[in-house]
Amino acid sequence: MSVQHDPVQRADFDQVMVPSYAPATFVPVRGAGSRVWDQSGRELIDFSGGIAVNALGHAHPALVKALTEQAGKLWHVSNVFTNEPALRLAKKLVDATFAERVFLCNSGAEANEAAFKLARRVAHDRFGADKYEIIAATNSFHGRTLFTVSVGGQPKYSDGFGPKIQGITHVPYNDLEALKAAISDKTCAVVIEPIQGEGGVLPADLAYLQGARALCDEHNALLVFDEVQSGVGRSGHLYAYQHYGVTPDVLSSAKSLGGGFPIAAMLTTEALASHLAVGTHGTTYGGNPLGCAVAEALLDVVNTPEVLAGVKAKHERFKTRLLQVGERYGVFSGVRGMGLLIGAVLSDAWKGKAREFFDAAAGENLMILQAGPDVVRFAPSLVIEDADIDEGLDRLECAVAKLAGA
Ligand SMILES: *Cc1c(COP(=O)(O)O)cnc(C)c1O
Repeated sequence: MSVQHDPVQRADFDQVMVPSYAPATFVPVRGAGSRVWDQSGRELIDFSGGIAVNALGHAHPALVKALTEQAGKLWHVSNVFTNEPALRLAKKLVDATFAERVFLCNSGAEANEAAFKLARRVAHDRFGADKYEIIAATNSFHGRTLFTVSVGGQPKYSDGFGPKIQGITHVPYNDLEALKAAISDKTCAVVIEPIQGEGGVLPADLAYLQGARALCDEHNALLVFDEVQSGVGRSGHLYAYQHYGVTPDVLSSAKSLGGGFPIAAMLTTEALASHLAVGTHGTTYGGNPLGCAVAEALLDVVNTPEVLAGVKAKHERFKTRLLQVGERYGVFSGVRGMGLLIGAVLSDAWKGKAREFFDAAAGENLMILQAGPDVVRFAPSLVIEDADIDEGLDRLECAVAKLAGA
């Protein structure tokens, strides 16, 4: 028998929630695979994936099994003790990546906070108090804590909260010359999203990442890749750095890692990790057995040649159709991204109107995302059925046709 709840509606949001969000007009209540149902029983197709989080869609049997089995065993013990799921998850991440050490936490912002603190700590220990500067990219997004919004390259998120963290410089993304001009021996880290997500689904150029790697080595700075959005299969590789063949010193992972359960990880090498000695950093919930059990099950499914190849094939399926729709209605100037992180760039006539696409899609029972005002973003389940892709894109085309008055 299920628990009886008081009835609630979308209108209650404005009465009880901090108004920092403007959620859609309907309230989702249930999901299965790439379908979601709202309070009225309306069925939607989900191309948003909870913002690149639900890597296996909704209620995937392997994740439900991992979560419910662990829920009956052990939820939380704190880091005063370790636990089996955390150790197994860390081993899997080490086996699958450049990393030799893992710090587990609960969100992308926390993984980046750990990465930035590590970079500053390493520089402090090795070179002294003057080496603390961080270079990041314009338009980048790294989370909403004060340190991570300060590193993030979007002043709309960081302005108006008093003094920011000092020593952070922003240079244009994919501009190696600008990075070269900004870096110095005071730089402790260069932070890059291999695919800028929130900033408009913009992949890095190979030469930019290679050049950044060389500049970091030259200046004893750490190369930090924020793969919170691009990681865990989303690019068609387990991590996007593996596509580029450029290895960072530190990598942050979250979003898809838990498939919907909050968990995140900072990955690094043994030598760098040694600077975070006992007591230097911590988290109460980080590495809790529930989250780790889910992430472990998710990696077992996602990190397989079949699923990763499927992501690449589904990218092509999306892209072909999006280009057709863009051409037919004159709404998109291009389609970019990798794997199942896809951005349809609005044409000049539609610039600034991504929210209208979001609302029009919802009207056709389709959940999509924006990436800023000029890009419509798709971040569906990595195992979305081709039939769901086709039907969702039919719905998108209906929404676009109505918007374009065709
Ligand atoms: C979403 C995101 C974050 C922040 O993650 P949270 O879990 O919301 O703290 C950081 N970096 C990138 C690239 C992201 O896309």
